Amino acid sequence: MAPEIAIIGGGPCGLTLARLLECKGLDYVVYERDESENSTRTGGSLDIHPETGQRALQEGGLFEAFQNYARYDDTVLTLADKSGKRILQMGQGRDAPEIDRRELRQILLDAIPKDKIRWGHTLKAATLGEDSRPVLNFANGVVESGYKLVVGTDGAWSKVRSLVSQSTPKYTGRSYLESRISRENPYYPTMADKAGAGMFMTVGSRKLIVTQRQGDGSYRTYFGLEVPENFFKDGGIDIQNLETARSTLLSTFFADWSDEYKDLIRHSTDPRAWPLYSLSAEGLEWKSAPGVTLAGDAAHLAIPNGDGVNLAMTDALDLATKIAEYGIGSVDQAVREYEADMFPRGAETIRDGQMMAKIMFSEDPQPFVDLMTSFEAGAE
Ligand SMILES: Cc1cc2nc3c(=O)[nH]c(=O)nc-3n(C[C@H](O)[C@H](O)[C@H](O)COP(=O)(O)OP(=O)(O)OC[C@H]3O[C@@H](n4cnc5c(N)ncnc54)[C@H](O)[C@@H]3O)c2cc1C
Repeated sequence: MAPEIAIIGGGPCGLTLARLLECKGLDYVVYERDESENSTRTGGSLDIHPETGQRALQEGGLFEAFQNYARYDDTVLTLADKSGKRILQMGQGRDAPEIDRRELRQILLDAIPKDKIRWGHTLKAATLGEDSRPVLNFANGVVESGYKLVVGTDGAWSKVRSLVSQSTPKYTGRSYLESRISRENPYYPTMADKAGAGMFMTVGSRKLIVTQRQGDGSYRTYFGLEVPENFFKDGGIDIQNLETARSTLLSTFFADWSDEYKDLIRHSTDPRAWPLYSLSAEGLEWKSAPGVTLAGDAAHLAIPNGDGVNLAMTDALDLATKIAEYGIGSVDQAVREYEADMFPRGAETIRDGQMMAKIMFSEDPQPFVDLMTSFEAGAE
């Protein structure tokens, strides 16, 4: 017999949901496309907020494990202009500690029985069976059905989404080019001196450079560019060729930025493209369908605004709480109530992402300084 709940995608949302269902004694299985928990795909550092991500970890009994990794000294944000002048520093002591995505995933995986996760299961398509309930077709040929609930937590390009919604992510006109400065990099001591702890961000000429210290002390940098959707695929910056990629960044995008940034580009390694996509806040809602829902980025993909993972974990917490409250026999009612709460916050984060992107890709850093200062004043 199939488990009662199928979770598609073992990212922060899916694994948090799995952990919370485990705590509540509910029956579930997670399908994840990665081949194993040792997959080498990693991601950046995430700040976990008290009322959302931290609360979900607390409910899952994982706050102590989280504290073993939480970096409270990396909450600081330093803002500069393209001449290298430091304009603002804030965020010291903020209750939003950083954790690497890989570490967060490990904490969650360690708290879920191994046989509850089916690795190497890439969902190819979700269809509706004769009973109007979801049928899961995996790329490895496995076909599964018979769940009381299927939850799509499979991120931006969710294959579950089409069961409830016609929405698809649209390109936002902006992309990040990610790169690394490892501890072995000859530029590392200079980088550590100039960027320090937390996030070092520079805004100007409708571009940005965001550098973030990671758990191992290395740095991850995102160069934010306004470029066409397929710019990297079409070779606008050839990320397969490090020297060419560096020289295009230097000559075409950051030619009039100070030497500090040019040195960073000259030493950056491991380029990776992140075209930024978003769902639309308008029409985000769908008519609740029996036996299926979405959570996290699958439900409300936004331009990264520092809240994505926190909202994904909040969705997981709310959904698990509702399912436990109503019981698996009334799971569709639980889903309806979860969705009614989730839709407005999903639409809000999409709008926030759009607003933040507009301000971060400004001609000069002042609008971003004003926004950050207003956040800080609001937090007092
Ligand atoms: C460049 C960048 C920087 C970001 N920085 C931040 C930040 O600083 N703070 C923050 O809060 N958020 C940040 N975000 C957003 C954040 O990463 C997401 O909001 C968050 O990861 C959403 O979690 P999720 O579990 O819903 O989806 P995901 O993290 O996308 O996880 C989806 C999971 O599903 C699996 N999967 C996908 N497709 C399938 C399939 N077909 N079949 C089976 N499994 C599948 C994937 O392998 C993955 O494990 C950033 C995003 C980007 C792109």
